Amino acid sequence: MNPRLRMQPQAIGQGMTSQRVRDRLVERLREGASNGQGIADERVLNVIRTLPRHLFVDEALASRAYEDTALPIGHGQTISQPWVVARMTEVLLENAPAKVLEVGTGSGYQAAVLAALGLEVHTVERIGELLRQARKRFRTLGMNIRSKHDDGRIGWPEHGPYDAIIVTAAAPALVPALVDQLRTGGGLGAPVGGSRSQALVRLVRREDGSVEETRLAAVTFVPLLSGMID
Ligand code: SAH
Repeated sequence: MNPRLRMQPQAIGQGMTSQRVRDRLVERLREGASNGQGIADERVLNVIRTLPRHLFVDEALASRAYEDTALPIGHGQTISQPWVVARMTEVLLENAPAKVLEVGTGSGYQAAVLAALGLEVHTVERIGELLRQARKRFRTLGMNIRSKHDDGRIGWPEHGPYDAIIVTAAAPALVPALVDQLRTGGGLGAPVGGSRSQALVRLVRREDGSVEETRLAAVTFVPLLSGMID
């Protein structure tokens, strides 16, 4: 056998971004190694196994991209912990959504996970520079994700109502404008609480307009802020 060919798969597999390292992250998520709540949805685990999370962080942090931890992405913001992304996605899939809205694009990783699952994704980010970088990543990965530079607390009504909404920044209370953009039977996932720790809340909008709320886990997100910056 050609020794060069034999070497190749090994060379690709080496390093801290290799398939082996990603597989280990998926096993940890499945077992619930970080917080006792395992991720069961194989569709979600598969996307996390294949989507290159290291492309969503600075090169200097690429070696840590498959640890189950949040990482800084600049401007005081973070890419969410893989377990949090997995859990929010798993819960969102329960209503079999087609069209989703994300508030807080950040690195673009959560939006890319949703797009990789075949969903029509709309995402809003208030920090222009983060959005530009996220858009570049979407292009690199050939992903068709609609994005907007705006204060996501007003949602994106022109494309609503959505089957599901995901808020990836924390607020003391659920944002009414977002609940309004949810279709009947649709679900919204958001971290609700103070600045240090929040509850991951799932809300489902019932036919009579009332909502059903469930608390899923304790999480820590960066705050949902008002206004836009370049
Ligand atoms: N989903 C992101 C998580 C990024 S952290 C990821 O996968 O990387 C949360 C993001 O929400 C930050 O980028 C922050 O700038 C953004 N954000 C905070 N308040 C916002 C608002 N009102 N509208 C839109 N984005 C907001």
